[in-house]
Amino acid sequence: MANQKFWKSKKLNELNHDEWEALCDNCGKCCVIKLINEKNNELFYTNVSCHLLDTNSCKCKDYENRKKLVPDCVKLTPKNLSQLDWMPNTCAYKLIHEGKELPDWHPLIQKTSKDSNMEKYSVAKRVISEKDINMEKITDYIFDWEKEE
Ligand code: SF4
Ligand code: SF4
Repeated sequence: MANQKFWKSKKLNELNHDEWEALCDNCGKCCVIKLINEKNNELFYTNVSCHLLDTNSCKCKDYENRKKLVPDCVKLTPKNLSQLDWMPNTCAYKLIHEGKELPDWHPLIQKTSKDSNMEKYSVAKRVISEKDINMEKITDYIFDWEKEE
């Protein structure tokens, strides 16, 4: 069981398994295809998702086996926080790692409210699966999620 407001009193590497999982806001932004400009390392997000993402619920279709099925999947753990560089600025792990507060719309903050704004920050129903596009045209799908929030 996750303790109340554990994210305020513990560092990321002190969280237990349930707390670690509860911190994820399920926005799905870590599951969209990202592109890197090799000349200057600029990172671009797209609105195309990994084939294992359920684009409606925004959940991984096989979370337990994700790394086996999608070797490129970034499995964030307390031991590979350098991977946070890839994560969106709204990512709860990134925010806590940088000593920032969770936003008002985060599920842990909104737990008791029915009026969550989460849809605005989630990729659910706003992405196309990589299996449904011509991946040679992936640059056509570059998408600025932060601009949409
Ligand atoms: S970006 Fe961060 S908070 Fe959002 S789903 Fe991925 S790991 Fe969870
Ligand atoms: S395998 Fe699952 S968790 Fe990993 S990127 Fe794909 S949908 Fe996301």
